[in-house]
Amino acid sequence: MSEKRFNAFTAELRRLFGCRVQRISVDAGFTCPNRDGSVASEGCIFCGGNGSGAKGIVRDRSVAEQLAHGKEFMIGKYGAGKFLAYFQAYSNTYAPVAHLARLYDEALAVPDVVGLIVGTRPDCLPDDVLDLLADYSRKTYLWLELGLQSSVDRTLVAINRGHDTACFVAAAERCAARGIKVCVHLIFGLPGETREEMLKTADLLNQLGIGGVKLHHLHVMKETRLEAMYQQGELELLERDQYVGLVCDFLERLDPRMLVMRLVGDGGFNMVAPAWGTAKFVLLNTIDREFERRGTRQGSSVNKD
Ligand code: SF4
Repeated sequence: MSEKRFNAFTAELRRLFGCRVQRISVDAGFTCPNRDGSVASEGCIFCGGNGSGAKGIVRDRSVAEQLAHGKEFMIGKYGAGKFLAYFQAYSNTYAPVAHLARLYDEALAVPDVVGLIVGTRPDCLPDDVLDLLADYSRKTYLWLELGLQSSVDRTLVAINRGHDTACFVAAAERCAARGIKVCVHLIFGLPGETREEMLKTADLLNQLGIGGVKLHHLHVMKETRLEAMYQQGELELLERDQYVGLVCDFLERLDPRMLVMRLVGDGGFNMVAPAWGTAKFVLLNTIDREFERRGTRQGSSVNKD
């Protein structure tokens, strides 16, 4: 456990690589079955046109060029010494394995790139892709990020996710059988979901032996169906203190070995609401202070229910 009251991924990376390690987001030109018509064509209701990719990534440059550009920025801003290529935008396993291998190899050939993070959907993992990822897991530092967002099937339908919780569970088990480390994305505050339903997801991740988690609050991005709901008054967003309380409750219930890779989302300039979501560092400090006030930490209440 780091000096934080949760098992911070940044501290784990420093321990493993001996320096500051930054993730560099790349857009490798993928699409997504929830957008191209294979599963659906409208996408998740919160998804902006960039496939949930980070601001600042440039789709029309090669993977190597994007990483070179990102390195320069991360060295200047953070003094980073090593980097993880973060295949973030859209579904980064949604292509034939030869194409995937070419992109992953291109990333790993960039100096000081010491590993890969591959973001995808749980329904985008045929056996040959998982075998490929298992192969990369043996030769480099690799995380597979699975978007789950909610473990409540009713919510997954409401947000047009295009897969159910059983699909995620099966994917996580198939990854575990191959030794692939899995990080799970969750969103708190999705429409119609109760506090207890959000918290219960921690139990599912514990049972599955998931390796890492990324949390963020629901934020409304421009030109999404969620924005239309928000403008029509059909959406109730979490207040900042509600989110802070949820994060602390959730982490107390989470296996203390699980790495925490993110606690706050970053909507960037396209974010419509909530306004408190832009003050990222204030929010992170508030979470730290809430843990101190409670005298608790990640895993405090595991197996105590
Ligand atoms: S799975 Fe990802 S890229 Fe596809 S629609 Fe949903 S958020 Fe967007």
